[in-house]
Amino acid sequence: MRALAGLALCLASMSSLAGDDIDRRLARAEEVKRTALAEFDGELDAIAGAPLDARQREHYNYLRSWQSTYVGEYETAIAGFRDLIERGQDPVLRFRSRVTLLNALTLSRRYPDSFEQLNLVLAELDGIADQAAQAQALGAAAQLLNQVAQYTDSLEYSGRLMRMGGMPWARCGAAQLQYEARVKSGRQREIDDELQRWADDCAAGGEQVFAGLLRTYIARLHLANGRPGDAIDSLARHRDAIQATRYPFLLADVAATLASAYLALGNDAAATASAEEAIAATQEGEYTQALSEAWKVVAQAAERRGEPFRALRALERHQAVDRAWLDDVGQRALAFQMARHQARQKSLEIENLERQNEVLQLQQRVNEETVQSARLSILLLVSVLGFAIAWALRTRRLKQHFQDLAQRDTLTQLATRPYFMAEATRLIEQARRTRQPVAMVLLDLDWFKSINDRYGHAAGDEVLRRASAICREVFAAAGLVGRIGGEEFAALLPGYDLAAAATLAEHCRAALRSVGYGPEQAREQLSGSFGVASNEGSGYELRQLLSDSDAAMYLAKNSERNRVVRHTPTTPAKGDSRAAFA
Ligand code: GH3
Ligand code: MG
Ligand code: MG
Repeated sequence: MRALAGLALCLASMSSLAGDDIDRRLARAEEVKRTALAEFDGELDAIAGAPLDARQREHYNYLRSWQSTYVGEYETAIAGFRDLIERGQDPVLRFRSRVTLLNALTLSRRYPDSFEQLNLVLAELDGIADQAAQAQALGAAAQLLNQVAQYTDSLEYSGRLMRMGGMPWARCGAAQLQYEARVKSGRQREIDDELQRWADDCAAGGEQVFAGLLRTYIARLHLANGRPGDAIDSLARHRDAIQATRYPFLLADVAATLASAYLALGNDAAATASAEEAIAATQEGEYTQALSEAWKVVAQAAERRGEPFRALRALERHQAVDRAWLDDVGQRALAFQMARHQARQKSLEIENLERQNEVLQLQQRVNEETVQSARLSILLLVSVLGFAIAWALRTRRLKQHFQDLAQRDTLTQLATRPYFMAEATRLIEQARRTRQPVAMVLLDLDWFKSINDRYGHAAGDEVLRRASAICREVFAAAGLVGRIGGEEFAALLPGYDLAAAATLAEHCRAALRSVGYGPEQAREQLSGSFGVASNEGSGYELRQLLSDSDAAMYLAKNSERNRVVRHTPTTPAKGDSRAAFA
């Protein structure tokens, strides 16, 4: 009955909606879309099904897609915005669709597409008279740049947004983006009155999402400065307002911050509860810093309570999210580099067309200058040989970009061999200068070939990934970890002597045993053989450290494997016939 009554009400309201009513509702929905989500939903539901003219239909579709973005239904949102951009009649709404599309693409991690849209948005920006649309675009640009850690550029756009003045929501958005950039880049390390004031003012103005994000920065700063109790208080006081936003990203971030704070206070039960809240608030398939942090808290709390299995499971989840998140950071950086490269290339091509007639002049200048500026050379080449050269150049530059990005191994996220060698050389030299000890740990997984042979290469890859995550967990805080061969890893540990490095290696050896492989009934445990050397026996010399730790590892291999062996003056060099009998 009640359902029928509801339907009747609905029909009645539908038939009574006149064109003016619809415009009023659309305007109201627009007004409250960030501040009163329930009312926003209500306005849209009230219009649904009513006869709309073309302009109203476009606006309604825009707001529906906006709603999908907010609640994390990105696919629906992206399809809706693309449709509006292609078919829409209203130029301002088309522009706004592009801006929110940019947000949805970023949130769903399609970074190359985000940057493509950003370039289009920035190109159209100055031709748009609508202030609100312009503000929205500046905010989206600053947000995307924050995501790729380009904080200086981001601050420029949020600064422009702040200077526009007027609209309170735009000022709160600008403040949030500015503090995000300042806190994440380390420019701001403590809470100041202004930050506190922005959070309170934005909350008072109903901008709860921005206020909530500002409050998470306040809490994080408390936490970073060793005040977990204050971190909890600063969030707890505003819990209801934050909850009412229903914004999943904010809710997860707040819960993860609380979890870390409770853990720091030793309140394991509350830490676990908050961490579980953060996990529940995160959408399926998403991997954020908050989620990674939450799993880590669950693991640490479980370990302290003496629940090793739960701890291990949570740690595995933490590592999986962390890996995916790091991957994501890498992809963002790559997309940013490519977009910047393409923009630069475009402007070069345009300049090329403009300057065709300056070729001779350029030629002369290039000849004159003994140190030719790269820019002039490129202009000259492009001008003389045209787009064929430009294309070749582009490829070469892209290759350079990829080389720069080759510092991290794609399968394991550890340092690649060349990067490891270069960095290790630097760190060893630094240790020599400061007279610090330094140690090298080498690890080769045992029987790895047989894992591949029996269970396939994909299973082998997964074991490799899990083993590397463990190496990172054990060694990363102490030094540099790299994948220096197929199933060989190395850790360079500044400040560690032989005994301390061997202790860490022993932790890693034990932890590797938690990696299982093979069928359920006949699960086997992974193991690795370790060799450790330090400056005491090998000097401050990368080659010697590597060769001595390798010789020690060889001894481990030739005894029972699954062992840590320290290099000593009596360790036979690898290849020495004695090694076979050690
Ligand atoms: P042990 O070290 O105990 O002497 O035996 P092992 O099986 O590890 O012997 P070896 O070091 O010669 O074999 C290493 C194998 O690792 C050979 C190669 O097929 C495999 N491998 C190297 N890189 C990868 C990779 O990226 N993925 C997978 N799945 N396997 C790899
Ligand atoms: Mg090997
Ligand atoms: Mg091996």
